[in-house]
Amino acid sequence: MYDKILVPTDGSDTSEAAVEHAIDLAEKYGAEVHALYVVDTDSMSLSLGGEQLDRIEQGQFGEMDEVRERAESATGYVADRAAEHGLETVEHISAGRPHSQIDNYVESNGIDLVVMGSHGRSGVRRALLGSVTERTLRSTHAPILVVDVDRSE
Ligand code: ATP
Ligand code: MN
Repeated sequence: MYDKILVPTDGSDTSEAAVEHAIDLAEKYGAEVHALYVVDTDSMSLSLGGEQLDRIEQGQFGEMDEVRERAESATGYVADRAAEHGLETVEHISAGRPHSQIDNYVESNGIDLVVMGSHGRSGVRRALLGSVTERTLRSTHAPILVVDVDRSE
């Protein structure tokens, strides 16, 4: 049923719960784990041009060391946890609007399950769901498992 499982991560502690669910499912289904971090151009104060977005896709961050560190530690966390279970992870960093990039990734890579947190880095609990999760649920056609980060234990 599930051959490729995508965990979109913003590197927050809250998305770590989703990582555990993704890894458990990947083990049971013998699925490949994919970790995607999106450099969120909606939330960045500096506006990035198309060329810069392309460069980020190619792993060229130029002066943006902090952006690179955050991105690599987010996907690296997933890869490390997966490796502890003997699973390999495909790590990918892209740039743009997170839900659009998640959509693209699902379509381009034949992802058959997305596992993500109910909330993320901004951690505002007023909303039932974080905006990235809500938009992804609306726009992505693959099944999505949303892990309630407050009640994941
Ligand atoms: P909001 O961003 O709406 O203020 P929030 O940060 O609490 O609220 P979301 O951003 O929707 O909530 O985060 C929910 C989940 O969406 C995260 O656990 C993660 O799985 C995914 N996500 C959020 N941002 C990104 C990102 N930049 N790249 C990849 N996945 C992301
Ligand atoms: Mn967020």
